[in-house]
Amino acid sequence: MFCPECGATDVEMVEGICKNCYLKKFQLMEIPENITVTICKHCNAKLEEGKWKDEYIPEDEIIYRALENNIKLSDLAENEEIELEIDQMRGTIAECYVEAVATVLGEDIVETHTPNVKLNYSVCPDCSKRNAGYYEAVIQLRADDRQLKDEEIEKAEEIINRTLNKQYKKDKLAYIPQVARLKEGNDYYIGSLKSAKKVVEHLKDELGGKIKESPRLISEDKSTGKGLYRIWISLRLPKFEIDDFVKYQDKIYQINAIDGNRIQLNDLESQEKLALKWREYDSIEKQNINGVQKAIITAKSPRELQILDPDDYSPIDLEMNDKLNKYNIGEEIDVIKIDGRIFVI
Ligand SMILES: [Zn+2]
Ligand SMILES: [Zn+2]
Repeated sequence: MFCPECGATDVEMVEGICKNCYLKKFQLMEIPENITVTICKHCNAKLEEGKWKDEYIPEDEIIYRALENNIKLSDLAENEEIELEIDQMRGTIAECYVEAVATVLGEDIVETHTPNVKLNYSVCPDCSKRNAGYYEAVIQLRADDRQLKDEEIEKAEEIINRTLNKQYKKDKLAYIPQVARLKEGNDYYIGSLKSAKKVVEHLKDELGGKIKESPRLISEDKSTGKGLYRIWISLRLPKFEIDDFVKYQDKIYQINAIDGNRIQLNDLESQEKLALKWREYDSIEKQNINGVQKAIITAKSPRELQILDPDDYSPIDLEMNDKLNKYNIGEEIDVIKIDGRIFVI
C-alpha cells in the first residue's frame, strides 16, 4: 500500500490516503462564520423556531449558547475540549474565538475559528403588551361601608407586589401597568387574568372580605361580532375589624380574628367562641359604641357578679363565667353599652 498523494509506503491508510495526508485535510469542527440570534431588547428572550424563550439570560451567556449550538464536531474526535471566548463587541456583533482540542486517530489536533455572533434586537409579544399598558383584569380594593385605611392599603400592596413577583417567574404578564387611586378605593390593573386571580386569592386569605367578578365589554370586533372583555374583580374588605363589636343573631360579639376562611367571634356574655363562614357576613351587624367605661364591682356570689351602671349607678347582676370570676369586690372592670345593655369586655 502506498499513499497516492505523497507516495509514502508502509503507512496507516485512512479513506485511501495515508494518515498524515488525511489529517492535513481534516476538519475537526464546522461552525458558521456568521451566526445571528434574535433577542428581545427588554427581557432578553430568544426567538427560536417562532417561539420566544429563555428570558433574562445575560447577553454573554446567549452568545456562548449560540456558539455551542452551531458547532458541529467530527465523529472521529475523541476527548474533545472546546473553549469559547468573546474577543470583543463591535456594536451588536460579538467577535468570538473558538478553540477545539481533540484526539483524532491517535493524534492531538487543535483547531481555531473566529465566528461572529450578531445580536438582532427585537421586542417579544409579552414585552410589547407590557409597553402598551395591556391588561386583562382590574382588582378593585374596597372596604364595605367605610373608607379603606392606610394600613390596609399598605398591607394589600405588599401582598400584591409579593404575589406578582412570584408569579412573574412563570407569567410575564404579572405586572401592574396602572393604579387608579379613587375616593372609594384603589384599582390595580393587572397584565394577566391568571395572575390577578392569584393576587385576589392571597389578598382574601390574609385580609378576608368578599370577592365579586364582573366582565366588562371593552370593544367589539364589528366583522366577527366577537367582544373583547376585561375582568373586574372587586375585593370588599369587611365593615368590621379585629376587636370591633358586632351583633349576630341577637347576641353581641367581639371580633377575634379574620382570615380568608372565617370570621372568629367571642360571645361577650358567655365568652364562648364562634367561627362564621364568609357567607354569613351579611348577617353580621357592626355595632358602634360610645367608648369604654369603668364599672365598679359591688357584690360577688358563685353565680353572679354585681356591678354598678357607670351612668346611673343602678346595680346590675351579671351571670358568672370564668372571665368574671377573676375579679373581686371593689375592683373596676371595663364595660361597653350596646342597645342600653352592659357588656364586660
Ligand atoms: Zn500521504
Ligand atoms: Zn421580552
